[in-house]
Amino acid sequence: MRVNAYAAPAAGRPLAPTTIERRAVGPNDVLIAIEYAGICHSDIHTVNGDWGPQPFPVVPGHEIVGTVSEVGADVTKYQVGDRVGVGCMVNSCGECAHCRRGDEQYCLNGMVPTYAGTDRDGTTTQGGYSTHVVVDADYVLSVPDGLDAAAAAPLLCAGITTYAPLRRWGAGPGKKVAVVGLGGLGHMAVKIAHAMGTEVTVLSQSLKKQEDARRLGADHYHATSDPDTFTELAGRFDLIINTVSADIDTNAYLGLLTVDGAMVNVGAAPGPLTVNGFLLGSARRVLTGSMIGGIALTQEMLDFCAEHGIGADVEVISADRINDAYARVLASDVRYRFVIDAATIA
Ligand code: NAP
Ligand code: ZN
Repeated sequence: MRVNAYAAPAAGRPLAPTTIERRAVGPNDVLIAIEYAGICHSDIHTVNGDWGPQPFPVVPGHEIVGTVSEVGADVTKYQVGDRVGVGCMVNSCGECAHCRRGDEQYCLNGMVPTYAGTDRDGTTTQGGYSTHVVVDADYVLSVPDGLDAAAAAPLLCAGITTYAPLRRWGAGPGKKVAVVGLGGLGHMAVKIAHAMGTEVTVLSQSLKKQEDARRLGADHYHATSDPDTFTELAGRFDLIINTVSADIDTNAYLGLLTVDGAMVNVGAAPGPLTVNGFLLGSARRVLTGSMIGGIALTQEMLDFCAEHGIGADVEVISADRINDAYARVLASDVRYRFVIDAATIA
């Protein structure tokens, strides 16, 4: 089936309307009529070539919410009309040790990203900046009724990417968590960590987002442009979630961890890290990373967000504004996620 989409024709080039082919609905597939697709900074890294060569033209988009409009013969979990979501992953082997324990994103045979990936049938995947997508039902999520569709879309990447390390590293009552960077991922981290009952501090470049941070659930807020921040907060945190899309001074942040504290990089800055080993050893600190989350955990996150009334703060845009939105994300001028109204993709 031929559907409308927005694609980047080559690295660093503006996105433009196009049409793409979606496969016929297979026995375990679901055809989704897309309602909303979030704009993740990863879309911009990909299109701009920050992560190396890509199979252009690329249709980005891995924060997808829509309704089921057709199901394959073997699909029992979904019915026509159900509201569903698709995140960053549309396939994996399903058989390796990691897939079997619910870490499909770390599939030993390679998980299939929602766009710019090679699917198991050899075709190149195309993402959510389009009107329809066909996805294996095992990689489709159920979007709870209580969630607004546009506000739910960013949960499929920004939500799970921050929920997973908060869960993994024990955020909750009595723990102090810092969130570095208040963008799409950062604002979800604040909302989710607050709902988990943890004490949340935002570390942002300037004081500009201070009011917003409080409203989102932050208990404390500091500007990283102020050197006093790093002396005042030394040894303070159990957990730091770094969501920054650019290179930062990792050592300055490691110094903010208490004994056995962990800094988790979810931001995918392109540069190599320089780490002072003494800072790790002197307080048994941990420096680690995390990539999205498995399918079962993603469903758990959606249910958690519905239970706590959490959606993203979104600015819904028409598709002809995608390139302007990219420029604003790059300027840290997003409050806090752009979401494309798929009805405007023509
Ligand atoms: P975003 O909305 O652009 O937010 C990034 C925030 O980082 C900005 O709002 C800004 O916050 C801060 N920032 C930007 N440039 C900075 C700089 N030069 N120095 C210090 N702070 C800076 O991006 P996003 O969509 O949240 O994505 C963030 C990163 O996570 C991207 O690299 C993306 O590719 C990556 N990502 C990773 C995963 C994963 O699975 N690990 C999943 C999704 C995204 P302030 O204005 O508050 O300082
Ligand atoms: Zn993303």
